[in-house]
Amino acid sequence: METKESPKASTRFSILLLVGTAFALGIAADRAGLLSAPEAEAVSPGTVALQDASPTAALADRDVYYPGSEDIAPDEMRIVACGTGMPNARPKQAAACWLVELGNGDKFIFDIGLGSSERISAQKIPYDYLDKLFIGHLHADHIGDLDALWIGGVISNRQGKLRVWGPSGSETKLGTAYMVDRMKEMYSWDMASRQGNVNTLGLEIDVTEFDYKAVNAVIYQENGVTIRSIPAIHAVDGSVSFILEWNGLKFAFSSDTYPNKWWMEYTKDADLAIHECFAPPSIMVNKQGFGVLDALNVATQVHTSPAMFGKVMSLIKPRLAVGYHVFNDFDTKPQIMKEVRSTYDGPFELAVDYMVFNVTKDDIKVRMSAIDEDIWPEPSVTTKLSADPKDRVGFSDYVNGGRQVFQDVIEQYYEATNKMFGTSFDPPSP
Ligand SMILES: [Zn+2]
Ligand SMILES: [Zn+2]
Repeated sequence: METKESPKASTRFSILLLVGTAFALGIAADRAGLLSAPEAEAVSPGTVALQDASPTAALADRDVYYPGSEDIAPDEMRIVACGTGMPNARPKQAAACWLVELGNGDKFIFDIGLGSSERISAQKIPYDYLDKLFIGHLHADHIGDLDALWIGGVISNRQGKLRVWGPSGSETKLGTAYMVDRMKEMYSWDMASRQGNVNTLGLEIDVTEFDYKAVNAVIYQENGVTIRSIPAIHAVDGSVSFILEWNGLKFAFSSDTYPNKWWMEYTKDADLAIHECFAPPSIMVNKQGFGVLDALNVATQVHTSPAMFGKVMSLIKPRLAVGYHVFNDFDTKPQIMKEVRSTYDGPFELAVDYMVFNVTKDDIKVRMSAIDEDIWPEPSVTTKLSADPKDRVGFSDYVNGGRQVFQDVIEQYYEATNKMFGTSFDPPSP
C-alpha cells in the first residue's frame, strides 16, 4: 500500500483499518448466521488484505442502508422490518409489520402492528405507494397502526383507496371487513373533520376478505406478483400466513402461528421465511410476570417458541430463516439463539426493527436501515389536490362565537404566503 503519511502514522492507520475490517467481517458473518462465536473469533486480522481507500469517495458497498438512497435492482426484493416486537408497546421494537419492495416498483405491507407506521414513514416512501396491506390476523399487535397508515395517507395525499386484504372469521364479526367498518365508525369525528379541509379521496378503504380456511389460495395477482394465503393456527380461528412470489423469488410470512402442516408444505425452499419466534416460557415469567402455567400455554400452544421455530425451519429449509415477535435484547438474545440452535443449524437472523434484507437469486444481504429521527414523511409524487371548502362540516354558532380573531396577524400570513408562492388568496372575513 502506498502512502504519503509518515511510517508511524501509516502503521497506526493500518492497524485501525485491520481491526475495524476484521470486526466488520465478524459482524457480517454473525448476521448471516454463518459462524458460531468461537469460529467468529478465529478470523485472523492478518489474513485480510488492505485496500487503498479514498478519503473522499462514497463507499461502493455500504454495510448500512440509508432510506431513499439506493435503487432496487430489477431482480431484487428489499424487505424492511418495520415491527418485530410484541403486543406491549416499547420504543425499540414496534409490533408486527414487514415492508416488501420489489424491483418492479411494487410495495406491500404485511401486518401493521402498534407503532409500526412511524417505521414505515422513516423509509421515505411516498404514501402513494403504501396502498397495499395484507393482514394475517386481527390482534392489536398486527393491526394497531392501521388507522395511522390510513389517515396518514390521506394527509400525505394518497389519492387512491387503501387496499386491505385480510381473512374472514368463523363468524362475520370476527372477520377483516367487520373490523375495518367498525374502525371507520370509530373515526367518524376524524373523517368529518377532514371534509373540506384536506382532500379526502384516500379515506376510502377497499377490503378484500378471503376465506381463512383456503389453502394456498391466490388472493392477489397483479404485475407478475402472486400472493397466496394458507391457514394459521393462532388464538382462535381466522389467522393466516402469506406467501409472496415474484420473479422466481419466494417470501413467506407467518404473521402468528403455531407450527402447522400448511406452512411446512407451502413455504418449503422460501428465499426468505419470516416466522414468529416467540419469547420462551422462562422469559415470559421472568420479564413479563406471567404465571408459569399461562407462560407455558402462551409460549408453546398459542405461539411458536424458539426451539419450535428451529424445528419449523429445519423442515422447510429456507435460504434465510428470520425469527421475529420477541424483544431481542442483549440479555434475551443469547437464550433465544441457543434454543433455536438446539433444533436448527441453517442460516438465521433474529430480527430487530429496521433490519433490511436485500434478496436476489445470488445473494441475501442483511443490514440495518439508518433512519433519521427528524425525518418528515416523504411528500406525495402526485400533485396535492385541494380540498373543497363546500364540504366542510363547520361549527355551531355557539363554538364559532368563541373565536378570538387576530385578523391583523392572519392578514400578514396571507400576504407573506401569497408573495412567497405567487398566489392571491384573501383571508376569510372575521
Ligand atoms: Zn396474534
Ligand atoms: Zn402477534
